Amino acid sequence: MKILIVEDERRLGQFIKKGLTEQSYTATWVPSCKEARDALCETGYDAIILDLGLPDGDGLDLLREWRRSGFNEPVLILSARDAVEDRIKGLDVGADDYLAKPFSLEELLARVRSLLRRQSGAKETVLSHRAIRMDLLARTVTAGGQAIELTSREFALLEVFLQNAGRILPRTLICEKIWESHYDIDTNLLDVYMSKLRGKFELDPAKPLFKTIRGVGYQMMP
Ligand code: CA
Repeated sequence: MKILIVEDERRLGQFIKKGLTEQSYTATWVPSCKEARDALCETGYDAIILDLGLPDGDGLDLLREWRRSGFNEPVLILSARDAVEDRIKGLDVGADDYLAKPFSLEELLARVRSLLRRQSGAKETVLSHRAIRMDLLARTVTAGGQAIELTSREFALLEVFLQNAGRILPRTLICEKIWESHYDIDTNLLDVYMSKLRGKFELDPAKPLFKTIRGVGYQMMP
């Protein structure tokens, strides 16, 4: 996830950059409108943190410019102007969220997470891996173009794997994601569902889709 920080106060810009980097985001900091424009021309970003009072212009004009040119990635405005009218103005121009200075890093990180979640929720409605395609809106799954019937629990389980293809997923983590309450969690039941998924998707024994990691959990093979 790449995040652009447009902030002319050097210390604050570096502080935000450090905070985001520690959370494994790829953060770039620029101190002016001009450099923000240049940065956006060079590469794409998943989100932008935008200060309003910049030395060579107003962040709101920059945002207006981006929205007009079709740039619709999420923008979080960061500003000392915290009057209600300013917030409304920012949101009207196309900001997704507004955080008044001073703020805590924790709050900033939480807002960024929420922006990215909404963004990815809006974007990724189809998950795919190998020949499998899952349409999250239509709630359908195909393998090699063939529709596969899944129960809602099997669907949820496959979705967890598709979102984490290649990662080793601990049993408890998988269960937490597919069972609503702790009372319902029975990790032995997970094995039952795994064998159902294998039966539906591992048609070629030479190409297993899931690997059992003994004592840990499961992995969807890359
Ligand atoms: Ca400023």
